[in-house]
Amino acid sequence: MRAGYFFVGPSKHAAIKVCAWTKKALIGGGECYKHAFYGIRSWRCLQLAAGMYCDNSCPHCWRETSFLGKTWQGAADSPSEIIDSAIEAQRHLLNGFAGNPKADVSRLEEAQAPLHVAISLMGEPTLYPRLSELIKEIRDRKMTSFVVSNGLHPEVLRLLKEEHALPTQLYLSLNAWDAASFAKASGNLSSSAWLAFLESIAEMKRLQGQTRTVLRMTLAKGFNFGRAKEYSEIIKASGCDYCEVKAWMALGSSRERLGVQAMPSHQEITVFAAELASQTGYLYSVEHIPSRVVLLCRDAEAARQRLLFS
Ligand code: SF4
Repeated sequence: MRAGYFFVGPSKHAAIKVCAWTKKALIGGGECYKHAFYGIRSWRCLQLAAGMYCDNSCPHCWRETSFLGKTWQGAADSPSEIIDSAIEAQRHLLNGFAGNPKADVSRLEEAQAPLHVAISLMGEPTLYPRLSELIKEIRDRKMTSFVVSNGLHPEVLRLLKEEHALPTQLYLSLNAWDAASFAKASGNLSSSAWLAFLESIAEMKRLQGQTRTVLRMTLAKGFNFGRAKEYSEIIKASGCDYCEVKAWMALGSSRERLGVQAMPSHQEITVFAAELASQTGYLYSVEHIPSRVVLLCRDAEAARQRLLFS
């Protein structure tokens, strides 16, 4: 275990970590914003990393990124081995709740059989060479999936589509509005990175209606907060079903990099989200105050469909 990560599978390149919201949901401490927005049952969620690799090193990432490799190295375990091992590890890590007087017994029982896999714990999932198989494995087990990508691998998005392996909800992280701001927000100085990201935005548009698509903005003051007009153009170009407008939270190692004063208040986020809504025509739908996040829905139909997972 490293920083709460529990490595799983034969080669131990994948990892899980019991999400703080999973724990809270088991003891009556509330649920995550994806519960409020989409109906995800936080206590039945498996937070997974396929591998410890990412081509970015975003200053706002609250996870420890110094040990991440840039490209995939070594073996790639089979998705079934990863999921079997991940579920076993999650059960093991939740064992302690059995003796907790605050634990909700029926939720704890349900938590033994996760319903949802959030491939968003750490690293860039599109670097895992067997991502389409992993998504299909999750689907075959009657579970749902989130894939959260940095948008640098549009060819993988195309592959997922061709191989009928789209996740239940596909995310791109939107933290910049042009090449210079992308280099700053991602720590990636490659001249092709911004173009690859824009290509992913175009892919997202092509996926409209084939899976649920989401842009997630993580905003820090003095860093990437503001520029509603430029962000709105990208949101409209993606045609995403949902846009999560979220404050960067001063957590983990990112706190030293950005400083606590960079954390927007919930009110600042609501004002900015309203501005984005007015510029894009998206609907300002729901907010989650503890996570300082607002959900914009593309239209009334997307708003009606949002609680898919409940
Ligand atoms: S959806 Fe995300 S925040 Fe919610 S319980 Fe799962 S990993 Fe945690």
